This record gives sequence, structure tokens and C-alpha cells, in this order.
Amino acid sequence: MSTQPRVIVIGGGASGLSAAYTLMKRGLRPLLLEATDQIGGRMGGDRIDGFSTDKGADFFPGSYDTTFRLCEELDVPLRRLSMDIGWHRCGRWAVTTPITSAGTLLRNIRAARTLDLQSLQGTWAILKLVRSLKADAKYLNYASSHRIAEMDTDETYGAYLDRLGVPEPLRLTLDGFLGLTMGNPEEFGSTWIRAFLAEVLFKPDKLFTPVGGCSHLTEVLADRLGGTVHVSTPVRRVVIENGKATGVVTDDGFMEADAIISSIPATKALAIMPDLPERIRDALDRVQYSFGIRVVMGLDHPPLPPGWSVALYPGDDTPSLMDRTVNLPECAPSGKSLLDLWVGERRAKDLMTLDDEAVVRALLADAHRNAPPGSTLPQYEEAVCKGLPGMFTAINQMRQNIGSDLLNLRIAGDFMRAPIVNGAITSGIETANEVADFLEA
Ligand SMILES: Cc1cc2nc3c(=O)[nH]c(=O)nc-3n(C[C@H](O)[C@H](O)[C@H](O)COP(=O)(O)OP(=O)(O)OC[C@H]3O[C@@H](n4cnc5c(N)ncnc54)[C@H](O)[C@@H]3O)c2cc1C
Repeated sequence: MSTQPRVIVIGGGASGLSAAYTLMKRGLRPLLLEATDQIGGRMGGDRIDGFSTDKGADFFPGSYDTTFRLCEELDVPLRRLSMDIGWHRCGRWAVTTPITSAGTLLRNIRAARTLDLQSLQGTWAILKLVRSLKADAKYLNYASSHRIAEMDTDETYGAYLDRLGVPEPLRLTLDGFLGLTMGNPEEFGSTWIRAFLAEVLFKPDKLFTPVGGCSHLTEVLADRLGGTVHVSTPVRRVVIENGKATGVVTDDGFMEADAIISSIPATKALAIMPDLPERIRDALDRVQYSFGIRVVMGLDHPPLPPGWSVALYPGDDTPSLMDRTVNLPECAPSGKSLLDLWVGERRAKDLMTLDDEAVVRALLADAHRNAPPGSTLPQYEEAVCKGLPGMFTAINQMRQNIGSDLLNLRIAGDFMRAPIVNGAITSGIETANEVADFLEA
């Protein structure tokens, strides 16, 4: 039996996998317990019919030093993203390209006007914003040595925009990009969002993603960890006695550990570690998360106009649209595409109670309302009727009474009889005869 100390890592997201991998490299004996049946957490993905999707993280800004080193070590190649973005504002579309030369600057002038980057007030606010980000550049970045905590205040991002006098149209432009993953960013802390602006919005030509998508990195990590990863093993409780963690309780009972790493969101950590010292609980209590809904679908054609990778609807609840295969063609079989639709918290709250099918239907309907010019977004297409319990009775009763409820209108379709071809044909012939009889009379 091994005498190496046993370390239990709770959670198989990016942090848990990196922790377990590092422990293994240090000659320790990690055991990673993941609650769901998949590793990756918010950097996970799915492989379906030759498509590979990311469920969470999409890109890495240029300052991700530790991540890039890990990618290099694990032989995970990175690709620089091209971010040609369509913005829908005031009923019009404008397309921006990362400004990397005088040529791209000129090409973006019309878009800048649409996005209020050129009005006097907008220009002034942008100058103040850029100046403030530059002044605090050494704090506002995502490198491992960042000093964000030194700048942390109680100010929200919304209050920061107020303080700078950023006019509403420009606010909407900034929110459009932030809203892609953050829902309503104005409630977020100003320091955190300012770091995002500095790292992402003002450096759009320095965004990267692993070839194969961000989830590819978590897959490679899990591969290296082999049998140390146990999925479908939720930790129900971490046992802490006299300030020392002794083990974890899973559905199979108690597992002793020499050390434990909790790599799960703070909200969940609080739930499984009720005995944490007050000071730690208080800090974890301050951590909150946004939520949103993302629908990813495989298509046999590019959904957005040629060259566009993203379509944004600032200030609007229309889902953002992203064609992942513009940057990552290998994530779909040849000639096919992947469309991501994402809505932030405000719209997501309305959709949370619906089933998956209704969510897809609602998001596609929203996306169609102001579809980009030349786009070919999928329609919600009916497949096979489910014939749910009670449907046949309800339809049958309706069919028998339709003549007394409506004079000259009949409804045909497979669902009116047996929802198959024969039912469709029967229903078509039947209603045609009824209408003909009505007209003759
Ligand atoms: C839609 C979206 C887009 C994003 N885009 C980006 C981006 O482009 N770039 C970027 O850098 N970041 C992005 N992020 C953030 C990034 O994905 C996360 O910061 C990061 O993946 C978090 O990793 P983690 O390991 O800390 O947590 P998680 O990924 O949440 O991992 C926690 C894991 O623990 C498991 N778990 C929970 N409870 C238990 C339990 N009791 N027992 C066992 N296991 C448990 C969970 O199932 C999960 O697998 C995005 C996030 C989302 C949601």
C-alpha cells in the first residue's frame, strides 16, 4: 500500500484539474472528485457528432501567463482570434475589426460613429476611460502577478461610469461586449470590469484560444491525470475537526485525506464546508456569480455574414450570436458551423423555468427579430410529434367540435390525426372535403 499522502481535490474544473496535475508532478497522490459526469466545469465542453463545443470559457487574453505556460507544457497549441464583430444599434448594423493599422482605423470610422465613439461627449469619455485604464495598468490585468486587490473598492462598474460621465449610448456599446459573458456588468465591481476593459475590449487583437477550444485544455489535463479523476462523485461534506480537514463524505461514505483542495465555486464551497472558520466564511460569502443561458447548435452552413465571428445587441435582450468555426474550423466537421447563442441574466431569468426546447425556441425567435443582413440563422424546425399523454384526446375533441366553433376555418396537419405521414394525408383530405362541403352548402 502506498505511503504517499493522499490529497483529495474537490471539483474537476480548470482549477481542480490544474491542482491535481501539479500535485501529481510533485510526486503526490491526488484524487480528484467531480460531482457531474463530465470534467471541465465552466471550461468544459461536449463532443457530439464531430462537433466540439465549449460550454464556458471561450478565449484567453494575452496576459494569461500561467495558462500559456501550461498550454506549452501540455502541447496544447493556441490560436489568435480574429474578432470581426457586428453591432446592432438603433436599428442599424455596424461592423468593427480590431484596430491594428491605419487601414483598420479608417474602416472602423463609420462603426465608431454608430457606436457613439465619435460624438464629442463619447470621445471625451473614451479618452478619460483610456487614461484611467493606462494610469492603473499595473493593477488592472489578468497576469498571475496582478495587483487588483490593491485597487479594490466598494464602487460598482455602473457607479464608475457615472463618475466618468460616460454618456448612455457609449455605455450601451461597452455593455454589449461585456454582456456577452457577464449579463448585466453594471452591478459588477468597477475594478474587476476595468481590468476586463483593459485586457479584452482595448486589446481585441490579443485574444487567444486553444486549437480545439478552451475545453480541449481541460481534456488534456484530465488525460494526464488518468485514473485519479473520479466523475459522478459529489462531495457532500468536508469534515473539519479543530481546524483540520480529515476527509470528505461522498455518497459512498467517508474518505480520509491528508489534505483537501476545494476547487468549486465559493457558493458551493460554503454549502459543503459549514464548519469553516467565520473569517473564511465571511470572505466566501462576498463571492457572487452571474448567470446566463447558452445554446450551442451545429449547422450545415455559416450562420453569420461572411467573416463575422460575433453579432452583438448592446442594450437589448437579443442573444449574442457567435460563429465559433470562424476561428476554430476544426470544431465542426468540414463545411459545417457552430452557432452559440448567449443571453445574460435579465433575459435568462425569464427563460429559466422553461424546458430546453422552449428555451431554444425563444432564443431563436429573439435572434430572428434583428438578424444580421445576409445571415442564415436556423429556424426552430419541428421534428417528430411527441404525442404527449392527453394530446390525442384534446385534439380529437377539438376536431369533433371545430365545426360549431368555427364557420369556415379548418386545421389540418399530422397532429390532427396520427402524427405520421398517413395522419397528415388523412387530415389534409378530410379537411379539404369538409371545406368543400361547407362551400357547396
Ligand atoms: C459562459 C461563460 C463564459 C466564460 N468565458 C470566459 C472566457 O472567455 N475566458 C475566461 O478566462 N474565463 C471565462 N469564463 C470564466 C471561466 O470559465 C471560469 O473562471 C473558470 O472556468 C472557473 O474554473 P474553476 O475550476 O474555478 O470552477 P468550475 O469550472 O466551476 O469548476 C468547479 C467544478 O466543481 C464541480 N463541483 C461543484 N460542487 C462539487 C462537489 N460538491 N463535489 C465535487 N465536485 C463539485 C463542478 O461540477 C465543476 O466541475 C467564462 C465562464 C462562463 C460561465
